[in-house]
Amino acid sequence: MQVIRSIESVRRAVSNAQSAGGRVGFVPTMGALHEGHRSLIRRCRRENDLVVLSIFVNPAQFGPAEDFARYPREQKKDKKLAKEEKVDIIFCPSIKTMYPKGYLTYIDAGKLAESLCGRFRQGHFRGVATVVGKLLNIVAPDVLYLGQKDAQQAVVIRRMIRDLNLPVAVEVCPTVRDSDGLALSSRNRYLSQAQRTEAAVIYRALKEARARGRQGERDAHALVRRIRSKILSESSGTVEYAACVHADTLAPLKKIEGRILIAAAVRFGRTRLIDNIIFSVKV
Ligand code: AMP
Repeated sequence: MQVIRSIESVRRAVSNAQSAGGRVGFVPTMGALHEGHRSLIRRCRRENDLVVLSIFVNPAQFGPAEDFARYPREQKKDKKLAKEEKVDIIFCPSIKTMYPKGYLTYIDAGKLAESLCGRFRQGHFRGVATVVGKLLNIVAPDVLYLGQKDAQQAVVIRRMIRDLNLPVAVEVCPTVRDSDGLALSSRNRYLSQAQRTEAAVIYRALKEARARGRQGERDAHALVRRIRSKILSESSGTVEYAACVHADTLAPLKKIEGRILIAAAVRFGRTRLIDNIIFSVKV
């Protein structure tokens, strides 16, 4: 396994593999790797000849009051996990490499960036789209692997790839959860023991909403109200948003039909957790 910090070196390694007929898969992350990341890497390993994992805590996607400074950085542990999963290349550029002095150009994801998490994290998806756009230009993989855990991010990136004609396929992998249902996240470690136990209510509330939708509830507002009240009554979390939108366009829904994304962001103290479920209801 190679650890590469420079743009030229990663470009060379990828283009050598592709010239030899190899297929290159890419998993971008911010490190502090857990079983969710591992599942993306495993799938990428199964489906490609060369596996590139990037680890870059992207300052452009954090707001001024967010956790950029305290975001966990665990190079040694991350390297160990990457090695176990037979990653070929870890690309870990410095901030200066990605955003040299005088850096100016950003990718704006338009209205997809304004709803759900975008309403509460100004500039977040602009930062995400920019860094993923840059990483795709640098690494130039054949396939990009993303997690369903960050559903809006996957929608934004798919659209960016389509709109900018980037020659890469996208695979979105299922959310990996702890045994009580809480979606794995690098941020779960910020939770106290009590908060960690309570946080499982997020997935319970989403699952209950899905069950109601499948059983015939058609009123999206009623589903959202129920998610909110369940989380509030069964935990000390505060609900930043709960929403029911179209899974591909993120358009708000009044009626439950088609491919539905139900998503929520919940705060436990200073820690913000997100989760979602996608399901289909026949029209
Ligand atoms: P992050 O390091 O949080 O930026 O995540 C890197 C990639 O891993 C993103 O595509 C995430 O959606 C994905 N990911 C994070 N957590 C999970 C999870 N619990 N299950 C599946 N994928 C995940």
